[in-house]
Amino acid sequence: MTHIYDLIIIGSGPAGLSAAIYAQRARLDTLVIEKAMVSGGQVLTTYEVDNYPGLPGIGGYDLGLKLREHADKLGARFAEDEVQSVEDKGPGQTKVVHGFGGTYEAKALILATGAIHRKLGIPGEETLAGAGVSYCATCDGAFFRNKVTAVIGGGDVAVEDAIFLARMCSKVYVIHRRDELRAAKSLQESLFALDNVEIVWDTVADAVCGEGMVNGLEVTNVKTGEKRKLEVQGVFIAVGISPESKPFEGLAEMEHGYIKAGEDGVTSAEGIFAAGDVRTKQLRQIITAAADGANAVTSAERFLSRG
Ligand code: NAP
Repeated sequence: MTHIYDLIIIGSGPAGLSAAIYAQRARLDTLVIEKAMVSGGQVLTTYEVDNYPGLPGIGGYDLGLKLREHADKLGARFAEDEVQSVEDKGPGQTKVVHGFGGTYEAKALILATGAIHRKLGIPGEETLAGAGVSYCATCDGAFFRNKVTAVIGGGDVAVEDAIFLARMCSKVYVIHRRDELRAAKSLQESLFALDNVEIVWDTVADAVCGEGMVNGLEVTNVKTGEKRKLEVQGVFIAVGISPESKPFEGLAEMEHGYIKAGEDGVTSAEGIFAAGDVRTKQLRQIITAAADGANAVTSAERFLSRG
């Protein structure tokens, strides 16, 4: 017979790990299901985190490890599996989680699967992925030492990536579709101070060029219509994120793929809570993900104590 947990947390980014910490403190019989071998989610690929209180400038990978260590220290249990679907047996019944590796059952669930990189959908993006096209500057930046690269996007991730790449690349273009960046002002100031960064405003990328390896990026200025080809060896795409919510389709109400939930994590499905980037919210950052984890466990505890 399958063991029935009080709580299953799906995902082990800052939201899932914070939830694991709070669930251990609440003495809930909990299992965390994580897809990757290393916990931390998107944080792992962040070069430097400069806005998490008390830990200025900590490396993303180190912060991910610290969060995991904290959960481990409190005795959290983890299973490595990729969740395919969730079956809600209805009010007062359990929720059954189906993964590639097994089936798990609990009285309550916290969905904390986060989000993944959005694709641009231009020619060359898919065929040259891993051959000069990347979605992770901290993972792949070192391959472009003394080379010319382009970052596409104008948000926090694009600007952080460009600042990181400028340390090793001879030149970095930032291709942004508007004449104003979306990124935090402090990041913009750091970017504007760099000599080897050129911001290409009002411009969209049309195609990544190259046979086997990237050798250029075709772009168009949306105001003038002018087309040009930038000679680059690397293209870093940072045009936002998409929620990792596919396994939960039909389970709870969603909005543009995000699970509808407020700060308390309560979704339209009884006993199912959402935390972190996968839920509808204003600000997707590590601090708000961590807060979500704590709130979702508090809501789950209340739900479980009702019996
Ligand atoms: P984001 O804030 O949604 O920014 C995406 C950027 O890509 C925007 O500048 C957007 O342009 C552009 N874009 C979107 N679709 C595009 C397309 N089809 N063609 C060209 N450009 C396109 O996403 P993000 O930078 O990945 O960040 C994700 C979340 O994580 C955000 O909430 C962010 O604040 C958070 N985050 C925070 C930090 C931090 O606090 N240090 C660090 C990393 C991430 P427009 O501006 O014109 O819309």
